[in-house]
Amino acid sequence: MSDRYQQFVNSFLGKQIAPRVGLPQPPFLKRHRPGAPVVDGPVLLGQADGGRLGPAVSRVLAVIGAETWTAEGPLRDGAAEAGLSPKIWSGATGGDQRFQALVFDATGISSAAELAQLHAFFQPVARRVRPSGRVVVLGTTPELVPGTGAAKASARVAQRALEGFTRSLGKEIGKGSTVQLVYVAPDADDQIESTLRFLLSPKSAFVSGQVVRISQSGRKPDLNWTEPLKGKVALVTGASRGIGEAIAETLARDGAHVVGLDIEPLADDLKKVTDRIGGSAITFDVTAQDAPAELAAKLKADHGGVDIVVHNAGITRDKLLANMKPEVWAQVIAVNLEAPERITRELLKQKAINPEGRIIGVASIAGVAGNRGQTNYGTSKAGVIGFVDAFAAEVAKQQLTINAVAPGFIETKMTAAIPLTIREAGRRMSSLGQGGLPIDVAETIAWYASPGSAGVNGNTVRVCGQSLIGA
Ligand code: NAD
Repeated sequence: MSDRYQQFVNSFLGKQIAPRVGLPQPPFLKRHRPGAPVVDGPVLLGQADGGRLGPAVSRVLAVIGAETWTAEGPLRDGAAEAGLSPKIWSGATGGDQRFQALVFDATGISSAAELAQLHAFFQPVARRVRPSGRVVVLGTTPELVPGTGAAKASARVAQRALEGFTRSLGKEIGKGSTVQLVYVAPDADDQIESTLRFLLSPKSAFVSGQVVRISQSGRKPDLNWTEPLKGKVALVTGASRGIGEAIAETLARDGAHVVGLDIEPLADDLKKVTDRIGGSAITFDVTAQDAPAELAAKLKADHGGVDIVVHNAGITRDKLLANMKPEVWAQVIAVNLEAPERITRELLKQKAINPEGRIIGVASIAGVAGNRGQTNYGTSKAGVIGFVDAFAAEVAKQQLTINAVAPGFIETKMTAAIPLTIREAGRRMSSLGQGGLPIDVAETIAWYASPGSAGVNGNTVRVCGQSLIGA
């Protein structure tokens, strides 16, 4: 679906007119291209006094081949291995150097007064971020800050405050850049690589103003970052078109054998998708009474089980509650919420999800903020977030993870059908000022699916360009 307004304001003529008359100028976002580096430009790394993650982060930056800068200038080869702790950038070195990414370890901030270190690091460089740049702040999960008594409480307050900083900076950074906060549990420093790779790369183009929580999974598999899902089997429901099609393609790109599922009337479209990516197709209505048991049996018989389950199939049936018939309510809840829950329970019961498995739900910002005419849909999608919360601890015991994405305005057939004025509002009312693409949702799911994301459990990340709805 094309965004004609965005194309116009980025044309020669549009670039002259838009700023003069005060029109918004949504930039084209940089997206991932095969073979491109994770970060395409210098990264400035800073650390608050007493922070613990600086060495772990500089090690990841070295592994991905990023040109890393600290207060003293470019990081020398081998400095990361030596466990160098970067200091605060003073702005005194580097002249007019611009950065593709800013990464700040805020784990050392343990009081309200020490939050001034955020200002000290970011203020001098706030205008030095390149277009489609990345800002990542790392903190300690507030409930898990170590210590006792008043000191522990102060540190918890300060760590919680980081959320307001990152969400606000996301709203003012501009030029298609994104800002995220990653809370790392005190014992999970070795689990950050897959999340840093995702959040620093163009794969997270439409994710901004989000908070990700990383916990210790006890696992650090040997990873193949080029084809992280090689040898894995992924079930994607609703795979014949739209977001589901992009998810299927992206998981296949990352090496998975994709089992695409859709309803019988879409069998031909589904087969086209799965043939193109070398996957297999099954037709099922996910709400059918025997669907969970049949699905579990089929996955076990054909593939010896499944590694990644993406509950993408979903429907809308919008009506004001006062006009909504009970069957319309029931249909939406059945497809969007009951089916994922029933299928997951059955797959777990039959042990059809392999160790290191991933369960991924597709919620919506309507489930975060609510939406007029969508009491049924909003309920179902908030339920998907609850589904993640409720299952996270249980599945972790079986070495699995469960997470969800909550897409905002994504350019699909579903959103193309929205009347023009509402569609325009949906696109522009976000920090990035545009709709996302199905690939943006798919890339977020691929990050959850990666074997490197064992410490990413119980998260719901919005893929919404930091939409003002549900902010
Ligand atoms: P879509 O309508 O293009 O695709 C949904 C797919 O699910 C279709 O292929 C459909 O046949 C399948 N499906 C529906 N009911 C099914 C059933 N009972 N059994 C099996 N398959 C079934 O929609 P989309 O825009 O690609 O959305 C995909 C997911 O993303 C949905 O869960 C949707 O709620 C969610 N979402 C979309 C947006 C957006 O802006 N497009 C925003 C937020 C959330």
